Amino acid sequence: MTELPYRYEAPVSQTLFDRAALVTPGGVNSPVRAFRAVGGTPRFMVSGTGPYLTDADGREYVDLVCSWGPMILGHARPEVIAAVQDAVVRGTSFGTPGEGEVALAEEIVARVAPVAQVRLVSSGTEATMSAIRLARGFTGRAKVIKFAGCYHGHVDALLAAAGSGVATFALPDTPGVTGAQAGDTVVLPYNDLDAVRAAFAAHPGEIACLITEASPGNMGVVPPEPGFNAGLKQLCRDNGALYISDEVMTGFRTSKAGWFGIDGVEPDLMTFGKVMGGGFPAAAFGGRADVMAALAPAGPVYQAGTLSGNPVATAAGLAQLRLLDDAAYATVDAVSARLRGLVGDALTKEGVAHQVQNASNMFSVFFTDGEVRNYEDAKRQESFRFTAFFHSMLAQGVYLPPSAFESWFVSTAHDERAIERVAEALPAAARAAAEATEVTE
Ligand code: PLP
Repeated sequence: MTELPYRYEAPVSQTLFDRAALVTPGGVNSPVRAFRAVGGTPRFMVSGTGPYLTDADGREYVDLVCSWGPMILGHARPEVIAAVQDAVVRGTSFGTPGEGEVALAEEIVARVAPVAQVRLVSSGTEATMSAIRLARGFTGRAKVIKFAGCYHGHVDALLAAAGSGVATFALPDTPGVTGAQAGDTVVLPYNDLDAVRAAFAAHPGEIACLITEASPGNMGVVPPEPGFNAGLKQLCRDNGALYISDEVMTGFRTSKAGWFGIDGVEPDLMTFGKVMGGGFPAAAFGGRADVMAALAPAGPVYQAGTLSGNPVATAAGLAQLRLLDDAAYATVDAVSARLRGLVGDALTKEGVAHQVQNASNMFSVFFTDGEVRNYEDAKRQESFRFTAFFHSMLAQGVYLPPSAFESWFVSTAHDERAIERVAEALPAAARAAAEATEVTE
């Protein structure tokens, strides 16, 4: 750990955090928000506009987290807010079918060719959990292949070597997941087709599906090497397993059709979340018509949700997707390229070993020499340097993900002024990273 000079400079947030800790485990509703990986006081945000967040102490930050991906148009985009206002006054939940959910499903099917049918759910976790159940039901097999460092939500069977939140807290397996729940999960190193080949050979006729992040962002950004996803698809086909591409993070962010729009590898099933909800709880899984036909009530595999296809959430998601045209993606990509260049230059200037890696406009900074191809490489970074970098940026009004194992996210709203503010903060943060020393306790 490093010394943290900025730890207590957010008194109102600290007071709220103390209150929260009395009534909520660790004071937060999702572990990474607690700042445990970097130390200090989590900032309690009260509002967001465009590329900025304002905390409870009245300080404004350039937001490079964007709610972990969803806010690709920035905060409080007027057209999205108007769609929400229009929906909300008509009632907030009916528990019946509604036109909004049909329109959102149509938009997803129109954008992503491998998706013939889609089922809406409320979180990415629900999407991957349901997709795995469907794959098992469809194939009549039990085993699932996943990759170390890939996170697919807190699904019991998938909480093994699951990257970011789990990596951050050094919980290789979490208590509460039984051997039976994880026992059918085969965890392999990422970007290693030979390991996948060997796993299929070791479990003939037993593997229901392989699930992979379309381009991983939960161990930092570690893109698939050329041919990797195509190789996975082929191995699945050769062995009668379904290929599930988890696009909860990449979907509708990395391009109009997500990562599929970039590498063109056709999954059997796909999962979505984040961007498609416009900041509300909406997520989905979908894919091949014959596989989706196995889902209740059309088929025997059960899946359901009281708030699935919620009218306010679908209105927000649809409004956001309709604004995401080619020009919007070009803007986000350009913002990302500018920031990647600025961060890399600042760290180079201070002689800090680093790798800026990106998958389209998603990017992250590893404090290490050499390319990061998998989770083992990612863990070799000097994350104590990230801690110093993070706190310097925070103190200067730039909000980064509070962990070295996360993607940074930008939006169409990150304009010149916002980029300039990041640029001004970078030299001091790079210096702090250069001067950081690892304190062993
Ligand atoms: N899959 C991926 C690739 C994710 O990045 C996440 C969340 O970060 C999930 C699934 C889980 O989504 P949620 O947090 O909405 O449950």
